[in-house]
Amino acid sequence: MQTPEEIIERQKARSKAWREKNPCRKKEYAKQWSERNADYYKSIPYKLARRKSYWKNKEARFKARARRKADYAVVSGKIKKEPCEVCKSKAQIHLMDFNKPFEITWMCQECFYNLKYKRVSCEAHP
Ligand SMILES: [Zn+2]
Repeated sequence: MQTPEEIIERQKARSKAWREKNPCRKKEYAKQWSERNADYYKSIPYKLARRKSYWKNKEARFKARARRKADYAVVSGKIKKEPCEVCKSKAQIHLMDFNKPFEITWMCQECFYNLKYKRVSCEAHP
């Protein structure tokens, strides 16, 4: 006989293994799911609730402040815009250390996501 906790743990482990085995399917499912629930996610109450909970988050506020400083430094010309450090295309500001907002890492979205989330691709979806 298993306890409910054990059953939940086993299910969690199983779905985690499935997600790791099928990175592309996971993406597909996430897309389908967000399409099914699009009305809810576009609704004003959801957006307001989300914004509220976001700004309650101390870390989020801290990061936003650092990003604002970095943005301002670039806009005001204190820091020069640079191309992506990896592929030399148009880059965005990325902060590796939010305590140092002026140490900007210039990377395009693609390269940054590859770095941060170690995006997995398979043969069907390179
Ligand atoms: Zn790049």
